[in-house]
Amino acid sequence: MKAELLTIGDELLIGQTTNTNAAWLGRRLSALGVRVGRTVTVSDTRAAIQQALDRAYAEARLVVCTGGLGPTHDDITREVVGAYFDAPLETNEDLLARVRRYYTRRGRDMPDTAPRLAQVPDGFEPLENPVGAAVGLWHEADDGRLIALLPGIPDEMTSIFDASVEPRLEAQPGIGEVHHRTLVTAGIAETQLQERLGDLSDALGPDVHLAYLPSTSGVRLRLSADATETDAQARLDAVEAVLRERAGRFIIGTGDVTLEDVLGDLLRAHNATLAAAESATGGLIGHRLTSVSGSSDYFLGGIVAYANAVKQDVLGVEGAALRAHGAVSEAVAKQMAAGARAVVGATHGISTTGIAGPTGGTEEKPVGTVWVGYADADGARARRFQFVEDRALNKKLFASAALEQARRSLV
Ligand code: ATP
Ligand code: MG
Repeated sequence: MKAELLTIGDELLIGQTTNTNAAWLGRRLSALGVRVGRTVTVSDTRAAIQQALDRAYAEARLVVCTGGLGPTHDDITREVVGAYFDAPLETNEDLLARVRRYYTRRGRDMPDTAPRLAQVPDGFEPLENPVGAAVGLWHEADDGRLIALLPGIPDEMTSIFDASVEPRLEAQPGIGEVHHRTLVTAGIAETQLQERLGDLSDALGPDVHLAYLPSTSGVRLRLSADATETDAQARLDAVEAVLRERAGRFIIGTGDVTLEDVLGDLLRAHNATLAAAESATGGLIGHRLTSVSGSSDYFLGGIVAYANAVKQDVLGVEGAALRAHGAVSEAVAKQMAAGARAVVGATHGISTTGIAGPTGGTEEKPVGTVWVGYADADGARARRFQFVEDRALNKKLFASAALEQARRSLV
């Protein structure tokens, strides 16, 4: 099934809002085996929406639109789509009652424009919105073409998609024709990974595709195979075996798993607890660890030791080490990790001390330099990494390096 996304809104065109709806829908649709052939963003004008809809509907079996379903005068998607299908708008009394309740329950007067939310183009089915006032709209044409209209607000869009659009798509013939398998790697950059994997054309053959999906916590390798081939799963197994043979020690898991999930499971399996001493990452390690539900089983706490005085007074880093080697050094990273472990009372400690930039770099320690420390009952060690120039990226990369260092030590 081929799909086209139509994201509507001036705020997207001027860069005021990032088009997260398109990314989210692209991910979800491709996971369902729907191929998104094009994403188009247009302004909130009648002509633009109509033209884009016309083009999309001519080429794709499924068109998903987001935005412009609200009650305000700039929300014209339902009118334009209704006119396109020659479908007059009719007030749906159940929906009108629902809209009234929505405002009453919030103790607000219903705005004069709100009854528009209850208008449904003839032949369209309203899709329940569990989190907002505007419903989604769904249309199935006699020739099998499908159209979904969803609100622009991401929470509302995703809720309606989950509850109502996905099940309707799954019921369509010809869906789910692609099998995906994702191998999650950590601790290796995309180019190194590519070199290590080498020429894969024989392994992949004509039917299996490999995509490199890099992020600051690692590179995901996504394999796709045509599910209508009877041996699709066996082919994926065969390619996975080759990837594992060549880069197995960098593969930390499959599917949606994250580095912090894997590290958490390892700590739990070892009956271990973790403390973090963070300089350059400023708490990001703690944030990532605590984003995993159940992380209180193993993550005890962290210290953001940004100033040297805090490194010394709280973590017990020696003044001599700071003077001799500087804060960004092997000695300090080791003492920070050991200090966190001791202060917090954890079995394991990790640390970061680095230069995130854009200022503060020197010839010897350029921007992007980080020392990552690790301490357990056997002592402490540290490793140096060299990342990029961008501060925000560096913070994420430093945190990933520390989490990955801990994971490797525990494996
Ligand atoms: P509302 O009921 O708020 O009027 P709506 O369906 O009319 O909903 P819009 O007015 O187009 O939607 O957008 C509402 C908000 O949703 C925007 O301010 C924007 O922040 C966000 N939004 C819209 N489209 C997108 C998108 N493609 N990606 C991410 N956010 C979006
Ligand atoms: Mg709106």
